[in-house]
Amino acid sequence: MSDSKRNSNKHIKLYIPGPTEVRPEILDAQTEWMVGHRMPECIDLVARIQPKLQQVFFTNRRILISASSGTGFWEGAVRNCVDKKALNCVNGAFSDRWREVTELNGKENEVLEVEWGQPILPEMVVERLAKGGFDAVTLVHNETSAGVESPIKEIAAAIRSLPGGDEIMILVDSVSGLSGARLEFDAWDLDVALTSSQKAFALPAGLAFCAVSERAMAKAATVKNRGYYFDFITLDKSMAKNQTPATPAISLLFALDRQLDDMMAEGMEGRFARHLAMRDMTIAWAKSHGFELLAPEGYESPTVTCVKNNKGIDISALNSFLRERGMILSNGYGSRLKNVTFRIAHMGDMQPSDMEELFANVDDFLAQNG
Ligand SMILES: *Cc1c(COP(=O)(O)O)cnc(C)c1O
Repeated sequence: MSDSKRNSNKHIKLYIPGPTEVRPEILDAQTEWMVGHRMPECIDLVARIQPKLQQVFFTNRRILISASSGTGFWEGAVRNCVDKKALNCVNGAFSDRWREVTELNGKENEVLEVEWGQPILPEMVVERLAKGGFDAVTLVHNETSAGVESPIKEIAAAIRSLPGGDEIMILVDSVSGLSGARLEFDAWDLDVALTSSQKAFALPAGLAFCAVSERAMAKAATVKNRGYYFDFITLDKSMAKNQTPATPAISLLFALDRQLDDMMAEGMEGRFARHLAMRDMTIAWAKSHGFELLAPEGYESPTVTCVKNNKGIDISALNSFLRERGMILSNGYGSRLKNVTFRIAHMGDMQPSDMEELFANVDDFLAQNG
């Protein structure tokens, strides 16, 4: 399909942390003829997808696929895995919303909150858990609102070394991390890792993926009121037959299959290295202009950089300027961070040359408005 025929909108290149840019060949993969989801064509498609998804998650566990955004699996994780009480770890807007979702699903919780922009650290988590009464922890791997990566591997290891730590469900949102920032589901001994299609996977919005440990599956079997759409047991039973209980987003599965082939060709290590290189370029660009970062050193996200607007630039004016040139970045997220920060996403299929292109245009704006 020619790009001019694609739609009536002008193409605006997305340097925002979701939805991210989707390459034309991936968009085109969605235009396959429709197939029935009980037909062998669809079952074969899911069977092709499954082992590739497992490589992205670094797991031998079956990955659950849902026709929803990642938020759906927030509900799924707490409804399936929290029976007594969750510890919601909050360091930004998304982790705070998962706390809210935990409460809205009627689960008991306590909140471990640090200043937004700071990472969650292992010692904080185990200190709270040691007080007892918890059977689950919610953690956001890559807090998109703040550009901060929390050390999930170290947090999980610290939890497992607590007395009774083997029974704590470690529930991880890696919506803006997975496939761009390293997460190793099996080696890190996590219980749930969930993500969405429209962030580092660089797919259209509408799919969510979730790895669930054997431990979490066994726990779910004991938890009441798991609901239906995100019931891990029902989903897993269908996925074992390369199906889903309800109709999947079939067109998106074609795009996913194609995108996973390209991810496998690049290799996960290559993908992680590319993200880190773009992150380092972005940090260097920001610092060379006298900007500071919200994240403390050592915790800067591999997929999105949150820049402090310490020079007081007009971010809406910057974005109007960039829009004219066919690109856009992101203002700070929510009432606390809007205008006082802005965010540059370097995730998905973006390349270092794309970042150079953005910086050159922001430089033009700064030269005219600095
Ligand atoms: C975008 C985002 C979400 C919400 O995901 P949806 O796919 O929009 O439901 C949750 N957590 C984080 C960290 C995110 O970046």
